Amino acid sequence: MNISSNTYRGRFAPSPTGPLHFGSLVAAVGSYLDARSHDGEWLIRIEDLDPPREVYGASREILDTLKTLGMESDAPVIYQSGRSSTYESVLADLNRGRHIYPCACSRKEITDSTPGGHIYPGTCRNGLPPDRNPRSLRVKVNEADIRFIDRLYGKIRQQLDLTVGDFVVRRADQLTAYQLAVVVDDARQNITHVVRGSDLLDSTPRQIHLQRLLGYPVPEYLHLPIAVNASGEKLSKQTGATAVTTIKPSRILTVVLEFLGQKPPRDLRDSTLAEFWQWGIENWDPARIPVKQSLPAPE
Ligand code: GLU
Repeated sequence: MNISSNTYRGRFAPSPTGPLHFGSLVAAVGSYLDARSHDGEWLIRIEDLDPPREVYGASREILDTLKTLGMESDAPVIYQSGRSSTYESVLADLNRGRHIYPCACSRKEITDSTPGGHIYPGTCRNGLPPDRNPRSLRVKVNEADIRFIDRLYGKIRQQLDLTVGDFVVRRADQLTAYQLAVVVDDARQNITHVVRGSDLLDSTPRQIHLQRLLGYPVPEYLHLPIAVNASGEKLSKQTGATAVTTIKPSRILTVVLEFLGQKPPRDLRDSTLAEFWQWGIENWDPARIPVKQSLPAPE
């Protein structure tokens, strides 16, 4: 793929639900190396849109860990919690275009009314049923195939009406849904390349749908393999992933490189941070990234 170096702008967008763990470090390092190896810019955005899931102090801790590992944002860090008026104005645009509508359904009602419970059946699409109050806002999807080429996973296609249905852009608790916020911010920050975990591969067609409705450019996508624990579960706060240790920065960073299929020399573990990044940027080769999930190798 031909990526023009002067137009590259990437980002790392952690949710502050806990300290940086190995799984999120993979996305940080992958996005950073991809940006730097294209002489691009790299931004950090804190996705703190969900106060119930947020852990006090986690944003600071994540930023401090990244700094200790030599990764700093090229622009002031953006916090989604401060951007609700922007999201509301985008919702107003979508409303003017009749792309969204209020929905009264609870999650349980949807699960109970559809086999598998995953696809919204369109209950409120043509108006709220009598005596029901609006809870969330949903965006309409259609039968068009959403197609894109992921730089690792190749051709992806999804028909949203058959797989998700009209989806939530403002939640019942009135918080902006991740799918909308991420699209608005990637566009407002002029992000050209999204590099993140493959657990979000499935969200990308929804995001492309919103980008099209809003007239935003569609960035390039590279989804990275996700790190799993010994039970095959994605490393996350919920599965008990622990904070990365930064006492020997080059050591943990080299483990990440190996996880991403790169072939660092053995002694990179003992190098200085400057030497580590120099090697990493010069030798970054996305073609080596493995497609499957894996366990991080011991340090
Ligand atoms: N905030 C999301 C997460 O931590 C990542 C969003 C993204 O990279 O698009 O899982």
